[in-house]
Amino acid sequence: MNPTTAPDMQVPEKNKILPRTLYLVATPIGNLADLSERAIKVLSEVDFIAAEDTRNTAKLLSILGFSKPLISYFEHNKKERGEQILARIESGESCALVTDAGTPAISDPGEDLVRLCAERKITVTSIPGCCAAITALTLSGLASGKFVFEGFLGTNNSERKKRLDLLAREERTTILYEAPHRLCTTLEELLKALGNRRITLCRELTKLNEEVMRTDLEGAVAYYKEHAPRGEYVLVLDGTKDADSGTYWDQLSVMEHIEHHMEAGLERMDAIKATAKERGVSKSVIYAEFVKNSKKDE
Ligand code: SAM
Repeated sequence: MNPTTAPDMQVPEKNKILPRTLYLVATPIGNLADLSERAIKVLSEVDFIAAEDTRNTAKLLSILGFSKPLISYFEHNKKERGEQILARIESGESCALVTDAGTPAISDPGEDLVRLCAERKITVTSIPGCCAAITALTLSGLASGKFVFEGFLGTNNSERKKRLDLLAREERTTILYEAPHRLCTTLEELLKALGNRRITLCRELTKLNEEVMRTDLEGAVAYYKEHAPRGEYVLVLDGTKDADSGTYWDQLSVMEHIEHHMEAGLERMDAIKATAKERGVSKSVIYAEFVKNSKKDE
């Protein structure tokens, strides 16, 4: 290893726990041995731990052989809890933020707390470790030089449609998270919106039943018609090879383009506006086309 890039093992100063600091501590995504020595040190030495689920974190601490004051911090209490956590840090305490698994702030609570700390000039430091997205990307066999993290596509239909439209044009490898009960729907929607593409499905990463399936969307859809999805999944999707050939609406008539937006939940006039904007023409041109075609259908 090049001595100038080798990790410095003699960093006791850097590893000292400081007051008035937030530590983002990555925890394992399925294999306890992935918890770093530094993560354990921080968890054992901070004044308190903010945890997504205090029961999970209490279990982890009990395996490690110590306990700590815990405060819950999750999606639905983050506003008021965030303020309480900040007040304690501002008064001089040190705090570790952990989520149920992996790196805080990656599809997990944390982003808001870090932003608030930045606004109030509170030091934040990260204790790196597991992240399901990066673990899956490295295993995918797909281009990893440039990639996009899409996280969960979400359950709101119009938002999903919008994301899928954007993914259809995405040239970079895309990483998605998905829950097992939504996997089949997501694979089918991806196939419909993007056409066939290479995909790697990474299941139960770092666990005993870790599985990496390198296939394409058609293969994945067919496979999961026969096998029930089980466990946690990261999907790594190849980018489009023909992004230059146009946009998702190239093959749509003006009416189909408007309908596409209406199906995604827009009111008629908003759908006309969105169509005009995407086609780079004025709203009145699209409206006139809409009226002409609607009359034809009468
Ligand atoms: N912050 C976490 C991280 O750093 O990866 C992600 C948390 S997100 C709420 C949970 C999602 O991550 C799961 O639905 C799944 O898509 C993915 N995930 C977490 N652990 C995993 C594992 N062991 N194998 C595969 N996917 C996993």
